[in-house]
Amino acid sequence: MQTNFEVAGHALLGRDLEIRTVRITVEEGKIREIAEIATAPPVWICPALSNAHTHIGDTVGMEAPWSGPLEGLVTSPGGLKHRILRTTPRPVLLAAMRASIGVMARAGTTGFADFREGGEEGVRDLREAARGLPCRPVIFGREGGEFIADGIGISSIRDCPDTEKAVAAARGNGKLVAFHAGERDPLDIDGALGYDPDLLVHCTHAGDGQLREIADRGIPVAVCPRSNWILGVSSSRAHPPLARMFDLGCKVLLGTDNAMFVQPDLWGEMAFASTVYRINPKVILSSAIGGSACFLSPACIEEGSPARFLVIDPAGSNLSFSRDPVASLVKRAGPSDIREKYLF
Ligand SMILES: [Zn+2]
Repeated sequence: MQTNFEVAGHALLGRDLEIRTVRITVEEGKIREIAEIATAPPVWICPALSNAHTHIGDTVGMEAPWSGPLEGLVTSPGGLKHRILRTTPRPVLLAAMRASIGVMARAGTTGFADFREGGEEGVRDLREAARGLPCRPVIFGREGGEFIADGIGISSIRDCPDTEKAVAAARGNGKLVAFHAGERDPLDIDGALGYDPDLLVHCTHAGDGQLREIADRGIPVAVCPRSNWILGVSSSRAHPPLARMFDLGCKVLLGTDNAMFVQPDLWGEMAFASTVYRINPKVILSSAIGGSACFLSPACIEEGSPARFLVIDPAGSNLSFSRDPVASLVKRAGPSDIREKYLF
């Protein structure tokens, strides 16, 4: 990837994604200058995306026939997912994870926060699978994997035999703490909040009081609407309460959850969220970008930041007729519209 270059177009600047006609000068992979100009080529420059919740280890279970409730699918150790993981040879697991990371990188995703099963070996395998790719993992391990990962990823407080000890050990080692919470019902959210987590995943069934607390404490929430629908824990826009989360000021991030059920493609996730919730496209786009600010350095088009942005070519499709680039990015764009991507 070239490290010194200039690119001009209509860019979504800063955290507010204000659209401006600019020339961006990049030196050694950093944005050195953003200058407003009178005219520019008809391209859109958008911050790179960041997937706030994945389980790419289960890519090998893609489209495996399944039925029944969530517990029978993803709960350790007897769930379908874990049976598939146990019986898949390690080279196949590695190749599958690498393929999913490649899908994310080609879609302009600069990083992803993954809940990784399989203890230390699982964490090492994911690092190995990601080696040399521009889409970086932030890994939440378990079963001992947390000590060599970025943090601990607790699959519901209900499923963890000694949460207090596990969290204390992770914190003692300077690790992040994340919980699945509120996926099936709201009953495991308060318990997770008691551990002052760095990230909550799902909150599909969170109530207003819980959301207020989450907002007041500034805890990011990774929501995965497609996964919730596919796994049958939601069938309406009431769950996850995305609109309410935004109204109450929660820091909402988009994730795609299990790769065996949902493609790790945030463009598809944004389009789904837009269709179901009909909320401001800029808010949805911010949720697909914001994860990097929580776990990596922010993918924000501003001077001094790393160059992590995508050049979208609307002329390559019907997007050139759009009267609202942000809405079209959220509702219609996809990996094939990306002309160049810079993921420093
Ligand atoms: Zn999950």
